[in-house]
Amino acid sequence: MHSLTDALGSPLHVVVPDQIAENLERFRSVYRRHHLSGQVYYAHKANRSSALLRRLAATDAGVDVASLGELQHALGAGFTADRITATGPKNPEFLWLAALTGVTVGVDGVAELDQIAALVRKHALAPVRVLLRLSGFETSGVKVLSRRSRFGTPVRELERLLEAVERHGDAVELTGVAYHLDTTSVAEKATALEGSLAALEACRSRGLRPRAVDVGGGFGVSYLAEREQWEEYTSALTAAVLGRRPPLTWGGHGYGLRGESGTLRGALGLYPAHRSVAGAAYLDELLAQPAASLGGRPLAALLLEHLYDLHSEPGRALLDQCGLTLAKVLEVRSQEGGGALLVRLAAKADDIALEDHGVLMDPVVVPRSAAGPGEGPVAVHLFGGLCLETDLITRRTVFLPRRPVPGDLLAFANTAGYAMDFHATRAQHQPAARKVAAWQDGDAWRWCLDDQFWPITPSGGAQ
Ligand SMILES: *Cc1c(COP(=O)(O)O)cnc(C)c1O
Repeated sequence: MHSLTDALGSPLHVVVPDQIAENLERFRSVYRRHHLSGQVYYAHKANRSSALLRRLAATDAGVDVASLGELQHALGAGFTADRITATGPKNPEFLWLAALTGVTVGVDGVAELDQIAALVRKHALAPVRVLLRLSGFETSGVKVLSRRSRFGTPVRELERLLEAVERHGDAVELTGVAYHLDTTSVAEKATALEGSLAALEACRSRGLRPRAVDVGGGFGVSYLAEREQWEEYTSALTAAVLGRRPPLTWGGHGYGLRGESGTLRGALGLYPAHRSVAGAAYLDELLAQPAASLGGRPLAALLLEHLYDLHSEPGRALLDQCGLTLAKVLEVRSQEGGGALLVRLAAKADDIALEDHGVLMDPVVVPRSAAGPGEGPVAVHLFGGLCLETDLITRRTVFLPRRPVPGDLLAFANTAGYAMDFHATRAQHQPAARKVAAWQDGDAWRWCLDDQFWPITPSGGAQ
């Protein structure tokens, strides 16, 4: 790790392409257990890596692209159009390349259907396959369970959407419906899936022939192995916010919590670092949920009964343990009067954007030289290299097993999902982190630059 950062600079992202193939296999096994067909589309936006994308292209997975650049990247990595879906806000160039190449488009609303139809007619393209992205699902009762989304069409406006599909029957082919909810709640997602099944019925009753439901992403990652660790930390943070113990954060930051004359207010705005059910297991749990309005039968059974394909779009979950970020320690400074050490890293907060996603994990110290006589655990605050008070890698006080020294590396684990390049800038002319791909070759690890990786020998990966 030290020779890598000596050569390529700090910070440095390391991605592990073979891990994404293993994670895909876990999703596939859930499909098999429920006898469901359909595609797993990797949500590309979670990481820009070419190596991860090219490794995935060598499997049977699909990819979900959300920009022109991502679509070009996917096509260039070897994904054929039948393995690509295009979602999210689209500019005309993105829509054009998607329509021209025959990618399935997840459409947001009537206006987008109109746009696609106009393109198809004007340029005499083949009809474009579309999934209708829906939102605003409700249970059979009055309580609205699924949160509002600025994407998709509220399900109560489905009629209007289907009228547009029929009006554009020469230019679009309806293949199904889709949703993506940014929530950890299984109940909310089950409501959406149930609502989607009802929407498919509505399509069929009009003589349309949809065959798939796309349940989006949001299956999540469990970052911490032990639940107790997480509970202990959040209780201690609560106590600190209430002034019952010394602060655990820079400036007494409460991550959404605050104390008002001894009473706790606000809500904890952190990613639940320990999740007993995440990733493929979360999909499994979703599929086992009973559909209240459809006889209480499991959602998986209903999908199977109608022979619907189940599509999913995991981003973060497919990237679980697919990479880490290394940052070199530049300076270690004691504060006057004691307190946590100030540790400055050769990195910006946006290069290691765990904090942006509310993910709290301690980095691992990788000493430059064999550790001297350890002075025991130390509390530190981790700063980035920008001339900005807010450039903290994390606002949390971090406890390291020993005092780091300049030249040591801090290794941040599990950063491939959204923490590597989603937020990265070139502020102050500081370079964005480079990325390397690493793989195991027998007992040895080998590596190359991310954009040099292809899943063939001698570069490794799928052989
Ligand atoms: C971001 C996104 C995903 C992936 O979400 P994760 O939480 O990373 O699994 C999937 N589908 C759509 C439409 C998205 O916008």
